[in-house]
Amino acid sequence: MLIYGEWVPAATGRSISVYNPATGEVVDEIPAASAEDVATAIGAAHSTFPAWARTPAVKRAELLDRSRHSLLSRREEITRLITEESGKPLRQSHGEVNVAADFIRWYAEEGRRSYGEWIPDPLPDRRLLTIRQPIGVAAIITPWNFPAYMVARTATAALAAGCTVVIKPARQTPLTALALARAFNDGGIPPGVLNVVTGDASIIGQAFLDDQRVKKISFAGSPDVGKLLMRGAANHVKRVSLELGGHAAFIIMSDAALDRAIDGLMSAKFQNAGQTCIAPNQVHVHSSLLETFLELLSSRVERLKVGNGLDPKTDVGPLINRDALEKVSSHVNDAIDRGARLLMGGHQLTADDQAKGNFYAPTILADVTPQMRITCEETFGPIIAVTAFESDDEAIERANSTQYGLAAYLYTRDLSKAIRIAERLDVGMVGVNDTRIAAVEAPFGGVKLSGIGREGGREGLAAFTETKQLAFRIEPA
Ligand code: NAP
Repeated sequence: MLIYGEWVPAATGRSISVYNPATGEVVDEIPAASAEDVATAIGAAHSTFPAWARTPAVKRAELLDRSRHSLLSRREEITRLITEESGKPLRQSHGEVNVAADFIRWYAEEGRRSYGEWIPDPLPDRRLLTIRQPIGVAAIITPWNFPAYMVARTATAALAAGCTVVIKPARQTPLTALALARAFNDGGIPPGVLNVVTGDASIIGQAFLDDQRVKKISFAGSPDVGKLLMRGAANHVKRVSLELGGHAAFIIMSDAALDRAIDGLMSAKFQNAGQTCIAPNQVHVHSSLLETFLELLSSRVERLKVGNGLDPKTDVGPLINRDALEKVSSHVNDAIDRGARLLMGGHQLTADDQAKGNFYAPTILADVTPQMRITCEETFGPIIAVTAFESDDEAIERANSTQYGLAAYLYTRDLSKAIRIAERLDVGMVGVNDTRIAAVEAPFGGVKLSGIGREGGREGLAAFTETKQLAFRIEPA
């Protein structure tokens, strides 16, 4: 773990193993922090906060930029690490490191633009203005599906705003977070400003909640844990940002460019084996296109190569663990039992070495209905669940019928219709004729059960600041 600029084991000497989801082999061991270790890390962040907050933004930017160079100098090593601990194909891991570096660059620069305002005052002898100040110590809890991206997105926003941080990465992917921490350390971020603790989530999470010195919890992960943290944060009224799950609708209208829609669906659905919060989980196709769509889609899906992400030919890697495999299987089996049409896949892959990993065949289900679990729960796997619709209203109603509200995609050639429908979808992000909705410059986040707040873009920086109002009495001229 990185605490106060030192690489330390857990005080108890306990450690836990990190496994490769493609082979079941141990990749490495990491320390299992005790509550005392977490308190030490919070102490480091707390004691270094005043100096870091006072450091000019331009100096913070310089150190962040050096960290980015340090990260990029170890790009190949970190790319491989991401694949080994998360299972995703090398190409995707490589892209993830690049985006992580982009986040660092964006926030290094954006930290210099954390402007306040001069507010027109109704009183002639007073002037009102606001300044933005860093919140304080931020605890950052990240999931395993984007181990570099998630750490970079939140930690660099916090650092650029002038906060100090304690990061708790997911148990499955702590090595990438530690590698990023090394880049920040080597880049010259002062000791104690960025700390990483690893180990048991409930011990670390509780220590974050109990400690008054932690002013903000930034969390990406499941809604259940998000709710637990939100409840716990109430005691000290800590700020929370919650990026929770999704259940994205993918709507293909009758006038859509079908090839383009299928391209978008393939990349959004099979990236990271479907384990992304913005993966389409419900595909709604106008009934006039349904059979052509299924035929074209099947011919694309059957060409996907499933395997170990270290093989450069792999398109789809393993699921993260056995629980994920069971969840995906149960969603597919439930849908089939309730009458869905299985067009492809629908089973675990166990041939040869695949039995040692958590591989599931890319799957297409048609005639999916609202009663099926896959229609309302996040699947997080390589499953495409398709339903036909007749009217725009029907598609919108179905898209909005889940508890989630993170992302939705819409394919149509009719611009007016696209705008009207996008405005009616209850989500934080809509992709129109495109599925590339994540960008370092743009706010990312959801509504309803998908969370509170936005990461990325200007909003992501503002999330680590407080607005202070200053009122000045001035003498008459
Ligand atoms: P998860 O179980 O909620 O885990 C996420 C993080 O929370 C991990 O670091 C985990 O640690 C930690 N955690 C678990 N229990 C905790 C507790 N009691 N107190 C504090 N921290 C705790 O979620 P997941 O299944 O790994 O991740 C997948 C979910 O994340 C999906 O729902 C996905 O949609 C969502 N996600 C959302 C976004 C977004 O930006 N909206 C991005 C990516 C993922 P351990 O690993 O040690 O248990």
